[in-house]
Amino acid sequence: MSDREPIYVTRPALPPLEEFVPYLQEIWDARILTNGGPMHQRLEAALCKHLGVPHISLFNNGTQALVTALQAADIHGEVITTPYSFVATAHSLLWNSLRPVFVDIDPVTLNLDPARIEDAITPDTAAIMPVHCYGHPCDVEAIRAIADKHGLKVIYDAAHAFGVRDDGGSVLRHGDMSVLSFHATKVFSTFEGGAIICRDKETKQKIDRLKNFGFEADGSTVSLHGTNGKLSEIHAAFGLMQLEGIEASLARRQAVDLRYRQELAAVQGISCVEGKNELVANYAYFPILVGPTYPLSRDALFRRLQEHGIFTRRYFHPLITEFPMYRALPSAEPANLPVATKVASEVICLPIYPELDDEQVGRILSVIKESAAA
Ligand SMILES: *Cc1c(COP(=O)(O)O)cnc(C)c1O
Repeated sequence: MSDREPIYVTRPALPPLEEFVPYLQEIWDARILTNGGPMHQRLEAALCKHLGVPHISLFNNGTQALVTALQAADIHGEVITTPYSFVATAHSLLWNSLRPVFVDIDPVTLNLDPARIEDAITPDTAAIMPVHCYGHPCDVEAIRAIADKHGLKVIYDAAHAFGVRDDGGSVLRHGDMSVLSFHATKVFSTFEGGAIICRDKETKQKIDRLKNFGFEADGSTVSLHGTNGKLSEIHAAFGLMQLEGIEASLARRQAVDLRYRQELAAVQGISCVEGKNELVANYAYFPILVGPTYPLSRDALFRRLQEHGIFTRRYFHPLITEFPMYRALPSAEPANLPVATKVASEVICLPIYPELDDEQVGRILSVIKESAAA
């Protein structure tokens, strides 16, 4: 075990505590703690501007936002989705009594492979829920074409895609809705939090009612079976403060990403995952694939890094389809998901976060390079 400080896969960037005090003072003065108060309203406006999207509804976490987006879509039957994601993607379908149908991923982007979607469509298919995995945009045009042809809704799990842009603007503008997570491990965090991005005012009003128990906007009566998805004033205030430092934090992530790519390019058996369709990336994760020509297996490299005090993660291993509530589905068969199955056996996400310094990146790289030479 290394005697140096352990390095984790991610670490939240926290500004000095004093910077948060004025926000707290405002909350104390206003005596409004939640229910869409001033901080909440300011954060919605600030995020619309920062992200370049027309409508956003804040939530207390990304999972509740996913569940509510599907509820707002008012769909029944089957939803096509990816096995290569965090389990909340598929769980949000079960919460809505929707049946997940898993489709394999593209070997380059690791996102839902559009070429395989049509084969999975049945008369019961109601929607597609793709994930912009690691913040790399899906093939949104191909997905849109399939959805239009078959009359399907598209709800993006964009939990990794904060701030990502393609050549037409925010990647969050695609589909009927996109869902963000502001969990502590994400690029932009409110400790816990999330949001739904939608295209029109009527949908936003419906989402805002659904996240407030289904109350009508004027509070007169309850007309939908909504939930409590509200983000508190403290969380919203933290988001406003984080937004101030987001550019600096992305710049540092970008530098780490660049160095990993440069130094790993020469390491046989290690490949870095590349985004294909982004103009502005967010460097949320740094996945590498440990191939058969690398001297160590993926799990052996994972343990070797651990022995050096470097705690990486094997996202997304196991696949969602390996969990007990999904594995009996016909579409969960490994034979149906050869690419996802292989990638899940090779992936390691390396540490990437704003406070990761050059010496630490060097330590991580030398373990990978020295193991390659051994
Ligand atoms: C983090 C994450 C979620 C869930 O978000 P929470 O805010 O933690 O509830 C959903 N989908 C993906 C792909 C995620 O990474």
